[in-house]
Amino acid sequence: MIVIMKVNASQAAIDRVQFEIEKLGYIPRPAPGESRTLIGVIGPKPLRGKQHLQALPEVSDVLDISTPYKLASREWQPQDTIVKVGNTSIGGNKVSVIAGPCSIESYEQTKIVGEAVKSAGGHILRGGAFKPRTSPYSFQGLGEEGLKILKQVGLEVNLPTVTEVIDTEVLEMTAEYTDMLQIGTRNMQNYTLLKEAARTGKPILLKRGMSATVKETILAAEYILNEGNEQVTLCERGIRTFVDHTRNTLDVSAIPAFQRLSHLPVIVDPSHAAGKRHKVLPLALAGVAAGAHGIMIEVHPNPEEALSDGPQQLVPADFKDLVDRTRMVAEAVGKRLD
Ligand code: PEP
Ligand code: MN
Repeated sequence: MIVIMKVNASQAAIDRVQFEIEKLGYIPRPAPGESRTLIGVIGPKPLRGKQHLQALPEVSDVLDISTPYKLASREWQPQDTIVKVGNTSIGGNKVSVIAGPCSIESYEQTKIVGEAVKSAGGHILRGGAFKPRTSPYSFQGLGEEGLKILKQVGLEVNLPTVTEVIDTEVLEMTAEYTDMLQIGTRNMQNYTLLKEAARTGKPILLKRGMSATVKETILAAEYILNEGNEQVTLCERGIRTFVDHTRNTLDVSAIPAFQRLSHLPVIVDPSHAAGKRHKVLPLALAGVAAGAHGIMIEVHPNPEEALSDGPQQLVPADFKDLVDRTRMVAEAVGKRLD
């Protein structure tokens, strides 16, 4: 339920309604607006006491929320969330470009890519230090050394960074080195990780589980929001389907679906969807044409020698071309990439 306070209700009135919500055994979650405060009522369903709350003199209306998530819903917050990451932001009318290698392999490799991302017009530098690999025999990442390299290169090229946190054990360390925490597709429903990552206060890039529905993805985001961290960006990175011409199927239809149901920004990751270099550009353009707030692209100076995801990584020149074309599509749909 959402309690809508009367216009310009006093703080005392808001406190009183919160007290009544607590008396019913629920948690009040106030969201002050310009002239009106909304109070989310959080608790196990079915929620009782709607009529009681509606009858309070300070209350204008009480709405049932039709979705199992509340804080992530458009009903709760009609306007788009803008997620701040270092000196940039994701959301609104802007198309953000997040790019970097799949894995941080060395300072030299990361520096070449960092400079390429910056000069092509990218906004955030990505790179994995702890890699969630399908095979235990594959390269698992440089660990803390990788985090240090990413941070150093980010500072040198003046780009904020994002890197994946794979478990709660390395959460504190990962959060120390990066501006934004990524939760990967394999961890989207790791609720302990979601909650603990939320509590670091860092913005979170939440990737859709490879078999998760749109609703399940928004519910995963709700775990983060429910910890008081509203800085969540959703990422469509392709889902498992029956087709065998692609690694995953980029679900372009999920972009408007997320945006209708939630105020959180949505980006696409065509690299992990495609799995192959030649599909990355068309899928990036399709994602932005469909309304994505950004793209995440893997870039490597020498993909043939990459320690992970070589076949899908772009060389810097192809990446620059992709950014230039994405800018044209962004402008064609009334957005900007600058
Ligand atoms: C990544 O972005 O580095 C990654 C491993 O992606 P995903 O979790 O989508 O597979
Ligand atoms: Mn990768």
